[in-house]
Amino acid sequence: MTDSFEARGDFSPETTETISDLEINVIPDFTSDEPVVAATSLEAIAPVPNGFVKLGLAKELLQAVADMGFTQPTTVQLATIPKAMQALDADPKAPKFTDLLVSSQTGSGKTAAFLLPVLHTLLKQQEEAERNERAEFERLSAEAIARGEAPLKKPKRKDPTNMRNFKAATPGALILCPTRELAQQVCADAIDLVRHCRGLRVANVVGGIPYQLQIAKLQNADLVVATPGRLLDLQRSMQIKLDQVQFLVVDEADRMLDLGFADDLTEVNQLTIERK
Ligand code: AMP
Repeated sequence: MTDSFEARGDFSPETTETISDLEINVIPDFTSDEPVVAATSLEAIAPVPNGFVKLGLAKELLQAVADMGFTQPTTVQLATIPKAMQALDADPKAPKFTDLLVSSQTGSGKTAAFLLPVLHTLLKQQEEAERNERAEFERLSAEAIARGEAPLKKPKRKDPTNMRNFKAATPGALILCPTRELAQQVCADAIDLVRHCRGLRVANVVGGIPYQLQIAKLQNADLVVATPGRLLDLQRSMQIKLDQVQFLVVDEADRMLDLGFADDLTEVNQLTIERK
């Protein structure tokens, strides 16, 4: 069976690049002549050229793929990740994001092909936001000292487990899956990949989880993996806002349409229309 996902698309064919000639077998790159070394750290795999390093992924993600025993990107990962990361190109005139329509067999590594560039970009944006926040705090603190006032105190962090502090999640990335099982699998893969990323939160939104627990798990989520029905329920009850979504991935888009999710997809597309 062939699966497909659409990344950051506005479903407009003019702006979508199609990668559909990936008639490939499971993880074909392992036929490479390169010696494959099982490694648990980047240092340990250093003697072997690591294809993921060449893709320019953040070190936290490189460490995670090494932990997971991935030594070389698969064909779909090699074809997709550099295109999805063009968003970070230095040229300000370049279109910010490229829409991708990818068709690749189950087992070919397609989940990591969309998760890695999305997580990489979220991570880099988070680092930049933290840098700016720190610089602003230091600037305001220096101004206060110059006026003879006490230096600023960092605001106390609110207890995120206290329901009174709950607020609507505003994820930067949204992955839609046609079934609860697939959403849980993709979420588990994302959690494996963020194991070294301090502060990147992944949440799963699927039917069958008690509502309050779902809301608690959604707090501060940066990446949400969801089935459309439960996602739209939470959006309508204002537990999640989708206007900060920059990346929309529709995993197994063909199956999604077969299962009658076309209207839900249109609605999610509209709710995330501000994505670049
Ligand atoms: P998928 O196509 O996303 O269903 O991926 C199938 C399997 O391939 C999953 O079990 C992944 O853990 C594994 N996988 C993904 N990328 C790689 C890689 N570069 N090297 C080895 N295994 C991988």
